[in-house]
Parts: sequence; C-alpha cells; structure tokens
Amino acid sequence: MSCSEMPRQVAPDFGVEKRQDMNIAKEMQPRVPDVAPKDVRNGGRVKGNDVAAKGLYRPDYRVLTPNMRSPEFVQMSTAAAITLGVAPGKMYRTGCTRCLNLLLTYPEGCRANCAYCGLARHREAERDFADRNFIRVDWPAVPYDDVLDIMAAGGDQGRFHRMCISMITHPNSDADTVTVLRRWNERIKHIPVSILSNPTTMQRQDVQQLHDLGADIFTVAIDAASPTVFERTRGSGVQSPHSWKKYWSILEHAADIFGPEKFGAHLIVGMGETEFDVLTQVQKLRDMGGHSHMFAFFPEKGSLMDHLPPTPRGQWRRVQLARYLIDYRGVKLDRMSFDEAGRVTSFGLPQAELDAIIDAGTAFRTSGCPGKEGEDISACDRPFGDSPPSDIASYPFKLNKKDVAKVRRQLGP
Ligand code: SF4
Repeated sequence: MSCSEMPRQVAPDFGVEKRQDMNIAKEMQPRVPDVAPKDVRNGGRVKGNDVAAKGLYRPDYRVLTPNMRSPEFVQMSTAAAITLGVAPGKMYRTGCTRCLNLLLTYPEGCRANCAYCGLARHREAERDFADRNFIRVDWPAVPYDDVLDIMAAGGDQGRFHRMCISMITHPNSDADTVTVLRRWNERIKHIPVSILSNPTTMQRQDVQQLHDLGADIFTVAIDAASPTVFERTRGSGVQSPHSWKKYWSILEHAADIFGPEKFGAHLIVGMGETEFDVLTQVQKLRDMGGHSHMFAFFPEKGSLMDHLPPTPRGQWRRVQLARYLIDYRGVKLDRMSFDEAGRVTSFGLPQAELDAIIDAGTAFRTSGCPGKEGEDISACDRPFGDSPPSDIASYPFKLNKKDVAKVRRQLGP
C-alpha cells in the first residue's frame, strides 16, 4: 500500500546557531493557561450541536465536530489510520507503523492540562477534543466496530505487531479501557495489547483487572523526568491534577502485577531537567525490571509550551544512547560520568564497544513496547511524533549509513 503523510506542522526555526547545547530549567517555562468561557467547557459546543457521527471522522475544525464517545468510537494516529487503510497518505521513508495506537475519545476531552500536550484541557475554548493535534499529527476518529472488523479480516496485512490503548484523564476512561481491551481480545487473538495508563484515576485493582483481562504490557506516561518539572508541567503549575507520587505508585503496582519486561514508563527529554535527572529515572525503572520509552520535547502547536525550543540534538542523542546502554546493554548509571550541568561526559564503555553500538543505530530508533523484530526494537515507532522528517529525533525505521553519520555529528566529539 502506498502512503503519504506530510506532517501539518512545520518545525519552528529557532536557528541552529542560536540553540544551546541543552534546554535549561529557567527557560523552559510554560505559558499560563487561559480560562475557557463556561459554555464551551466540558465539550459544551459538541454536545450542544449534537451532530450525529457517521463512520470515519478526519479532524477538520471548519465543520461541526460530531458527538463521539468511547467505547463506540476511538481515535487513532494518522500513521495507524494509513496502515489500517482508513485514511490515504504516505510517510517519509516508511510505509507503515507497527503499532495501532488507539486513543479514547469524549466530547469533554482530557480533564488534565499538561503543558506540553496538544490534548490539554485549556484548548477547549478554541478546539474540540477530536480536532486537536497530538504528538504533531491529527488523530482521526473511527467506530471501534470498524477497527475490529478490519483487523479480524486481516486488513492490516500483518503490519501491526502491537495495539495500544491510550487512556486520558476522564471519569469513564477506566471502564472504557476495560471494554476496549475485552472486545479486542475476544476477536483479535494474535496481536498483544499495551495499556498507556492514566494513574490519576486508577487504583491497584484497576491495574490487576487489566492484567487479568490479558493486557500484555502496562505503561505509565510519567513524561516529566523530575518532581520539579512534573509539578511545573503536569501538576499545580498548570492547574492539572497529576502528582509524581501517584504516578510512581501505579508504576510500582504494575511492576508487581505485570512483572519484569512487562511494564514501562514514558519520559520526555528537554523540558528543563538535566541529563542526569532523566537517566536517574531510567536506571530506577531498569532496577525495577521495566523499560523507559523516550520522547524528545517538541513544541506542540497550541500547547502551553509551543513557544519553547525543541530539545537540542546533542542533548537528545546523549540521553538516547545512555538510555539504550542502561536498558539493553547492562551498563549502570554509576559507570557513566557527568559534568556540573548534568551532561553525560562518558558512557562507561570502552570506545570500541561504544562505536559498534552507535554504528548499529538501534539506540537512536523510536523506543517503546517491542514487536516481532527484537526486544530492543519498538513496535510503537510513532513516525515523526517528536520531530519533523527534516530533523529526525526518534528514527521510526532502521538507520542507514548517512543517518548514523548525522547522529555521530550530533553526538559531538
Ligand atoms: S493526561 Fe495525557 S492526554 Fe491528558 S493533557 Fe496530560 S499528557 Fe495530555
């Protein structure tokens, strides 16, 4: 199948020569969220218009957004919609994604307000939930029955290696995740399911229930890599309900219930934490038996951090490489060295070994839950979810020699 996704959002031109070597805390400050008028809060516009949903809905803020709700409807990434064949398109250097990323959807949207996220609540004044960009792309909405029918008929031609249910912060999200998972496992037996959870609304028994219903991997989007950055970008700093403590407590339950290699956490690099901060969380996760899934910060259009610079590539490559060594090569954080600003200065391996790992390129691919290619190769490849194709952060495909040469230049001497 031929495809063509041109990401709608062009990378802000901050000027390479003006970029610093790392995004520092005092500059990575979110804007203050606006207060939405009462009549548009909680999906007021969508529920007031009450347009009936008919089949696929492709985000288009020039028309009235239909009234769609999970579990009858789910949203999916543009890459997943192309791979499933429900939307036309092509992607740069890749024909498909290996992960069917599904997002629960409600007119009320996510009730949290995370500063870096395109789905955040503060956007309700200007954009209905199903029309919001998220990790740089649109998320078409599709009846869940249609998704199941296409998958049961082999319509993905074996290209999906994994499905993922992304919860959001909504009162129905826990129950609807159970329904979506149960219905998937009744009909689609050959593709494992990951859960991208919402700890704020969950308790230990919710984690246990998802495990008992056959979820394969449980993940937590911690995102902010230190308590300070967490509070500033996802907590009271932006009138958002999340807490560092609750996120880690659900992760600990997941480690206990799902077991080694079957849980993980998302971390975003470049929101004002140091490289040492983020790698400390990576090591902690590995010590617990899990893996970290990394994202480079990108200023999502419409978010409270859309005026800030993306993660400088030197910072990103160092963290990507160090994370890979900790997660898949058994290198410990305490073998690495850092300067006074928390930058990695030594990776704790002899140069020849390090060179071989860099040349293999796997460390610089998108990280996430594995598919069929190998334990260290993510099915969740999120094409261009954290960068434009012109300046790739996470490679959604195998690197060629030119790519590796570019990564080496970005890593520096
Ligand atoms: S909880 Fe998740 S979806 Fe909701 S605003 Fe925060 S990051 Fe976005």
